[in-house]
Order: sequence, then C-alpha cells, then structure tokens
Amino acid sequence: MKIKSIESFILSDTLKKSFYFSQWEYSERRICIVKITTVSGHVGWGEGYGPADVIKSGIELMSSYLINENPLQIETLWNIMYRRTLDFARRGVLVSAMSAIDVALWDLKGKILNLPVHVLLGGKKRDFIEAYATGMYFTNSEKLSDVLPKEAKRYCEMGFTAMKMKVGLGIQEDIENIKMVREAIGPKVNLMIDANHAYNLREAIQLAKKAEPYNIYWFEEPISPEYYDQYSELRTKTSIPIAAGECEYLRFGFHKLLDSKSVDIIQPDICGTGGLTEAKRIAVLSSVYGIEVIPHTWGTGIAISAATHFISNLDDVPGRLKPPCCYIELDRTENALRDELTISDIEVKNGKIKVSDKPGLGFEINEQALKKYRLK
Ligand code: MG
Repeated sequence: MKIKSIESFILSDTLKKSFYFSQWEYSERRICIVKITTVSGHVGWGEGYGPADVIKSGIELMSSYLINENPLQIETLWNIMYRRTLDFARRGVLVSAMSAIDVALWDLKGKILNLPVHVLLGGKKRDFIEAYATGMYFTNSEKLSDVLPKEAKRYCEMGFTAMKMKVGLGIQEDIENIKMVREAIGPKVNLMIDANHAYNLREAIQLAKKAEPYNIYWFEEPISPEYYDQYSELRTKTSIPIAAGECEYLRFGFHKLLDSKSVDIIQPDICGTGGLTEAKRIAVLSSVYGIEVIPHTWGTGIAISAATHFISNLDDVPGRLKPPCCYIELDRTENALRDELTISDIEVKNGKIKVSDKPGLGFEINEQALKKYRLK
C-alpha cells in the first residue's frame, strides 16, 4: 500500500451578499482541499483551515515527503511532516496544510479498510450530535435590527436549540444586538456570543457583565489569543463560560491554554490544529484538565464530516447518566462550497446530526462542483 499522488485544489465562490465580523469583511469563499490517491486507486480527501493559497503551497511542500509511503501509518506520516517543518512552522498555516493531509489520510484509511473514521478513532460514543447554528454576522446593506431577530427566529424554526452570534462592534451596540436576539428566541435556546478577539480585558469584562442577564451559554474569543493571563483573569470576573482555541495550534498550544486556566471550553479546529491525529491528542490532554472540547468548524462538508466523526468519539465531560450536550458548530452563512462539494448522508434534523457509518469520513466528492468552483 503506497501513496501515489497528493493533489491540492483551490475552490472559490463569490458571495451574493458580503458580510463581516469584528475583524474583516467576507465577499468570497476560498478554500484549499487535498486529494490523496494510492497506487491501488483508493482516494481520501482533506481540507485546510486558513488562507487557501498558502495552504496549497504547504501541501505541495509536504507532499514530497509522503509519496511512496504507506498511508495506513498515519502517525508515522504525521511525525515526518511535523519534524520536516518544525523549525519554521510550529504554528500557523503550515500546520493547517499538515492538517489537511492528515484528514485526507484518515478518510483514505477508512476507505481502504472499509470502516468509518469514528471506529478507527476508537469508537462512536453517540449516534447523534447536537448542532448549533453559527450566523448573525454583520452587514452594511441592511439594518441589523431588521435582520438579526429574523435570522435568529429562522434558526429556531429550523429546529436549532442553540446558536451563536457575533459581537465586537462596541459594547453598547453588542448589548443592543444581544437583547434583540434573546427577545426573538425566548429564554430556552442556548445563545453564544463570539467577539473574534475584538476586546481588551477591561472591555471584555464590561461586555460580559452587561451580557450576563441575557443568559449567555459561552463568550468566545473575547480577547486576543496571546493574552492567556488576561483570559484567566476574565474567567474570575464573569459567570459566563469562556471559550477559545480556533487560533491555537497543536497540543503544545492547547497545553498552554489549559494550563493557564484561560478557558472553560477549548475549540480546536481539526483542519487547522494538526488534523484528526492531533485533535485526538488535544482531547486526551483536555480530559486531564477536565475541560470540554467543542471544535471550531468552518468550511466545506469535508471539515464538517471530520468534526462529526471526531465529536462522536469524544468522552463525556463529566460522565453521568444524562450527559451534557456535545455540540458541533454549523456555519449557516452563505457558502455554496459547503452546500455542494460533498455528497453525504449528513442531515440536520431537529437541530441534530446523525453520525455517518459509511467508510472513511462518509462522503463522496461532487466532481461537478469541484470543476465548477476550482480556481487552480
Ligand atoms: Mg469563533
């Protein structure tokens, strides 16, 4: 069993309506995906989280280390990629490139062995995963007071019992938006807020205190990810759980986040933090600290499928007869690549996703969509 080729593709789609969050505006969806083919003709697919063009270069660099290697020895290959790039890339987009290849190797292994990835990871601990809707971004084309409550209600009608909205426009405006959304969805729906590290510690404390009466399920990335001590101080100043980790890389990054007592929930992105191989290690590490893992998930059906298998394998923290909810993030903003690239049995019903028992990650690539959106 040998790897014959590793090909990467950049896919792009221009959005009909641009949207923005606390850092920048999105007018395009652009993603790098990777296809690994063996000499025997088996194929696995992966995806990287982050700037697609740089990730593509990273994949091309790492491909040269892996041709003719045995794809079933995933940890061995992971270690080759890690050691060969360690001097330059202990964080950032080269780790995303490695993640894309790693995810493709897991898909490939499942397809070769005719087993779903959750079995390869050690087993499925739940058949359904509760999904939360990510949306409620900002737009300049309409008044937020017109669109946010409608969008929130639409998610409720779709069966979601949890959803995440953006904050980071300034404390007063954020609180007005939170109030509108909470009033629209009623008291029972779990509501998360995400600042994408827009605030300093003083502002984050102020926003958290003002948001507490609106029963916030978690406050995500309140502060810039470098400031571990500020995160841990914030945790002592609010009753709202603090979540972060989408900008963190490898188990070493998460060790720092966990050891500094910075968060209540860690959010590794499987396609950015080192792939399923490293995400599994991060989950083991978090269990030592008794901290929940709820991955950050963004991108196409490849990333969503990888997250589904990974989450189905997570331990309950804490374990009990009626375990706490184990969430998967589902971005609901406009994304044709997410909607069209993969053909799978993933279906969101009443706010839940059924875990696929098909081989690999459980999807096939829609070759027509690949052709339609491929740039290079
Ligand atoms: Mg986020």
